[in-house]
Amino acid sequence: MFSFSELADIVGDESSSEVDKAEIHGFCIDSRKITSGDCFIAIKGEQFDANRFAEEALSKGAAGAVLDNPEIARILREKYDNILLAQNSVEALGQIASAWRKKINAKVIAVTGSAGKTTTREMLKTILSKYRRTSGAGKSFNNQIGLPISILNARKDDEFLVLEAGTNAAGEIEKLSKIARPDIAVITCVLHAHIEGFGSLENVAQEKASIIKGLKPQGTLICKNQKELKDALTASSVNIQYFLLKSRPAGGENDIESFEINNDSSKITICGTEFQIPLPGRGNLENFLAARLAAIRCGLSDEQIKEASRGLKTEGGRLEIIRCGQAAVINDCYNSNPGSLANAAEVLASQNQEVKIAAAGDMKELGESSEEFHIQAGRKLREAGADKLFAFGVFAGSIVEGFGAEAGMAFNDYEALESSLLEELKGNEALLIKGSRSMRLERLIEPLISRI
Ligand code: ATP
Ligand code: MG
Repeated sequence: MFSFSELADIVGDESSSEVDKAEIHGFCIDSRKITSGDCFIAIKGEQFDANRFAEEALSKGAAGAVLDNPEIARILREKYDNILLAQNSVEALGQIASAWRKKINAKVIAVTGSAGKTTTREMLKTILSKYRRTSGAGKSFNNQIGLPISILNARKDDEFLVLEAGTNAAGEIEKLSKIARPDIAVITCVLHAHIEGFGSLENVAQEKASIIKGLKPQGTLICKNQKELKDALTASSVNIQYFLLKSRPAGGENDIESFEINNDSSKITICGTEFQIPLPGRGNLENFLAARLAAIRCGLSDEQIKEASRGLKTEGGRLEIIRCGQAAVINDCYNSNPGSLANAAEVLASQNQEVKIAAAGDMKELGESSEEFHIQAGRKLREAGADKLFAFGVFAGSIVEGFGAEAGMAFNDYEALESSLLEELKGNEALLIKGSRSMRLERLIEPLISRI
């Protein structure tokens, strides 16, 4: 990927730039996973300072190490001659990824949005990789560490590289976009998520729209046709293709003729082609619209996209429908915010079971309006047809307030929540389980399934 001296230039460590060392074939931030030829990048985390593991990485055959602790670097240099010292390892990682981005041939697609990033990214990876050499982000790799690593994992001759860009503070998307230099950028939607950090939906939209800051000059933005996003993009001159789920054509390639959302899948006809999407919910159908437009820009035909769409799958904990006997458990524990909760409530509503139960945990990072958002969430679940509510967390009382106290129960103790919910089960209901990541509501899934 790089010669050692090239790397020294990128990282800005002049002391080593004259030294000619082994070639670097890969990068790794986990000293336990180092393989020979890798360069170790020592990142200081919340719990560990990986500078302390640099020696372990080098002794395992690392071709080099980038550190940002001058003292440890000084000591290691007495023994090793392939140490680079950066101001900040996370920034160095970004600079190295940016340099690799320039060397690879792949067209880069970067996906951002308040919800649906991972789902859309995976849809695109599935569709593109059926026909072309494609790589892309895994897990939830979408921050200042995950995105650069995803770039560094791309092979030189990949045709496409699909990235995810996330944010919880202003300015992050711009930074990520400038590292990724996307040919195609996607904004799935803006919702009330991370509002605490941004203050308003308009600010969230501004942040997402800044994905265009690194877009290649001839690049395209694929964006949900949402007022806040359109406002945030008015002054920009980039090529934008909007998408929206409505039965009438929304312009461009959005000629939606009809669509149908069922309990665990959807069907949509666009420009005469009928696509079967084996994922539940309106949000996923919108994610598909974004993925389709991106795939078309990558040169695929609707027929190819249709064929590949059969292989789309839900990601773990994201509207995953688990059927056991007559019951259906909708595992949407991966995360929660008001927009994704409304989406999940619709999925609950579309289930065939007569009795519908929601277990809803706190939605985090909503700032001053947290209480109001939780009251609205309760209302939304009730309107969607949930018969019973088991609310969990600091805002459990607010969710119950919106839902109606006669059919809702608030818990702040997990054990009590679990045993009450298990007691309630008859085995013939549809159950939605959803909460913010830190609520860890996936703990409920195993006991629920065993009980049913
Ligand atoms: P994160 O910011 O945590 O990385 P993400 O943007 O990658 O999240 P996903 O992991 O794809 O989002 O989906 C998370 C949840 O958001 C899903 O479980 C689903 O409930 C909801 N969701 C997905 N897509 C949409 C959409 N287009 N509109 C509304 N809600 C959606
Ligand atoms: Mg994600």
